[in-house]
Amino acid sequence: MTDPLIPDSLILVLDEGTTSTRAMLFGADGTLHGTAQQELTQHYPQSGWVEHDASEIWARTLACAQEMVAKAGGAGRIAAIGVTNQRETVVAWDKATGAPLTRAIVWQDRRTADFCAGLKAAGHEAMVQQRTGLLLDPYFSASKMRWMLDHVPEVRAAADAGTLAFGTIDSWLVWNLTCGAAHVSDASNASRTLLLALDGADWDDDLCALFGVPRQALPRVVDTSGALAMTEPALLGAAVPVCGMVGDQQGATIGQGCLSPGQTKATYGTGAFVLTNTGAQVPRSQNRLLGTVLCQQHDKRHYAIEGSVFVAGSLIQYLRDTLGLLAQAAETEALARSVPDSGGVVIVPALSGLGAPWWRPEARGIICGLGFDSTRAHLARAALEAMAQQTHDLAMAFAADGAKWTGLRIDGGMAVNDWMAQDIADILDLPVTRPRFVETTALGAAMLAAVGCGMHASLEQAAAAMIGDTSSFTPQMDAATRQQRLANWAAAVAKV
Ligand code: ADP
Repeated sequence: MTDPLIPDSLILVLDEGTTSTRAMLFGADGTLHGTAQQELTQHYPQSGWVEHDASEIWARTLACAQEMVAKAGGAGRIAAIGVTNQRETVVAWDKATGAPLTRAIVWQDRRTADFCAGLKAAGHEAMVQQRTGLLLDPYFSASKMRWMLDHVPEVRAAADAGTLAFGTIDSWLVWNLTCGAAHVSDASNASRTLLLALDGADWDDDLCALFGVPRQALPRVVDTSGALAMTEPALLGAAVPVCGMVGDQQGATIGQGCLSPGQTKATYGTGAFVLTNTGAQVPRSQNRLLGTVLCQQHDKRHYAIEGSVFVAGSLIQYLRDTLGLLAQAAETEALARSVPDSGGVVIVPALSGLGAPWWRPEARGIICGLGFDSTRAHLARAALEAMAQQTHDLAMAFAADGAKWTGLRIDGGMAVNDWMAQDIADILDLPVTRPRFVETTALGAAMLAAVGCGMHASLEQAAAAMIGDTSSFTPQMDAATRQQRLANWAAAVAKV
């Protein structure tokens, strides 16, 4: 292995997402030295079901990793590997053969909705929420594991034989990177399974029993950063230490430098994911936000509160593709600037229900305040304004849970919209920043690996060295305008 203090040693990040997998090379100063990317096949066997082929995920991730090792000039230049991944997705494999026993069930998959509803009806949600910070929802891993045990004979047989391995994608990749030597999951990924108490060092026996998941099939819970595993030398040409493992949203939070309580990031993509660092204190939400592990170092955890908005960029896609109001998403910026206000138009984008803090899946969207003078510019502006307003609702819920925001760091495909960024600052009445380097998830994994291998002494030092320039947006709106906007929004949400 390379001495991490050698000036030109690099961090290799494996960033395994839902639609593609990538490998990226980072320098100690955060410079990106290369990216390899491959698409992943999505399998939709039935309505509401989403599956991935775990063998394909590994093969494509390894191919990307090998390409980046060659680009680096050999494994000798790689100080450490950081892994970040789509969360909650479950892989089942046989420890004896290393082969997957069935397709991976992806986080979006809703097949276990009835099972979760049954547990909820039986009164289990309060205990589950209290321990895990999560809700009884098919989104999380445990009910997917149970489904495999109940419906895939090979999974049940392996469980009976004691050779079953379950894992989220981080576990699956590290199992393969070590040729079966390490069956581990970091605490940030483990905290998304419904089987780990937020303050429990290891899997929770009561939760394993509730979901019927055999504990011996689960990985060992390890730190997010540190000497976590060593790769099999044949794979990359030499053994390389795995020094970071982190779920994608937690990775992005770290990559945005949200290392102190109150610091918050919002990723505006198809939907919006918001995480606030809550420090060493276990978060307890009264507002149906999620409590989650942000990272764990030397067995010490840092936590975050998480909330998501279902519809963000997808509203812009709807205006473009379904209503035909736009040719391109980026047009919304010029349209919004072309009018002084939305002309009284308010859009509540509950196109697939309302997420946090409302949690009303049955809600449907509305456009209100239309007049003959309402133009597509007013509609585009109202669509962007809805982003700031939805974010403001989340800010109120986070504050009520004791996680008051001190500012907002934004990223994601929609965050390139300067008008929207300024409007969010105005409506939140908080400073908003946006990094020039937008791959915050991968950067977070690189920072964790850099600390884990000793290239940087702490995450704070890694942030100072590796996070580059940001653009800033400071609030400029007068209080009366802000109050009026929020009052109009509240009135429209009440109609939904
Ligand atoms: P995801 O990772 O969820 O696939 P991205 O982070 O790539 O999404 O963001 C893409 C979304 O951002 C799309 O829904 C698109 O409509 C929206 N978007 C892209 N550019 C702009 C823009 N300039 N203004 C507003 N929305 C935009």
